[in-house]
Amino acid sequence: MLDVCLLGTGGTVPLPGRWLTSLYLNCAGSAVLIDCGEGTQIALHQQRISCKHIDAILFTHYHADHTAGLPGILLTMAKSDRTDPITIIGPKGLGEVLKGVMMIARYVPFEIRYMEFDAKEEQFDIGPMHFTAFALKHSVTCYGFEVTVNRTRRFDPQKAQQNDIPKRMWGILQKGQTVEHEGRTLTPDMVLGDERKGLKLVYATDTRPCEAIREHAKDADLFIGEGMYGDEEGSEKARHNKHMTMQESAQIALDANVKEHWFTHYSPSVRDPFEYEEEIHAICARTVIAKDGQRADLAFEHEETKED
Ligand SMILES: [Zn+2]
Ligand SMILES: [Zn+2]
Repeated sequence: MLDVCLLGTGGTVPLPGRWLTSLYLNCAGSAVLIDCGEGTQIALHQQRISCKHIDAILFTHYHADHTAGLPGILLTMAKSDRTDPITIIGPKGLGEVLKGVMMIARYVPFEIRYMEFDAKEEQFDIGPMHFTAFALKHSVTCYGFEVTVNRTRRFDPQKAQQNDIPKRMWGILQKGQTVEHEGRTLTPDMVLGDERKGLKLVYATDTRPCEAIREHAKDADLFIGEGMYGDEEGSEKARHNKHMTMQESAQIALDANVKEHWFTHYSPSVRDPFEYEEEIHAICARTVIAKDGQRADLAFEHEETKED
């Protein structure tokens, strides 16, 4: 349903075997990339994901470890004879960033549409995915992304009959339309069952811990959060450079009651993040010391009936 691939888990600079943090999402054929540091196109290639069909690229902020892969990706798309437009979305300043990118990626034969935002929160849709960008606390303006996929409500024939809805109106109402019929206003509510839980994923990196992450990650199916440092020395650096430690990230995952939590954006000084696994699991047992290529296919909760 929501195919998730964490292409890289590194922060600051790519290392052999560790690409920079970038997240690939695919839902019903709509594909999105969040962040695109140097080497992201190679990480895509390694995961056998074609960049030709990516519909949108989202940026959390414009530090090079999240953006420097963009010219290469656009040029590779150009070489693959792409003609579909691409949408690029990020905080204010994106227009300037793209001007610079287009200086070195001059021959892009498809349209680049872009949207920049400035508010504390911004919402937009890409295919069936609903995005909420929310402000984080980094050394520059930086946003996290909450991604939700709604689940349609099931048609309830008993309810339709109880509400005395003519059969020929069932299909229209089920599609979400309201109709006037013989002096009555018929609404979708009259034929649809209870709301059903959808999917939620949150991606938040390059930030100090903040309430906004806790709120947005509440009960998420997957929270991908920064795990820049694991030791005491790193903890000071995190405070100073506005990053988050693994311990802080795991505490947020616990507070927010997420189903699963992955680390990303490890500092190059963290040679082996598994060193901290025991300590981290004592904070939150649902934390995964994620590796490049970490994948999940998030599916709606199982229900007793066959219909989906
Ligand atoms: Zn970074
Ligand atoms: Zn940064």
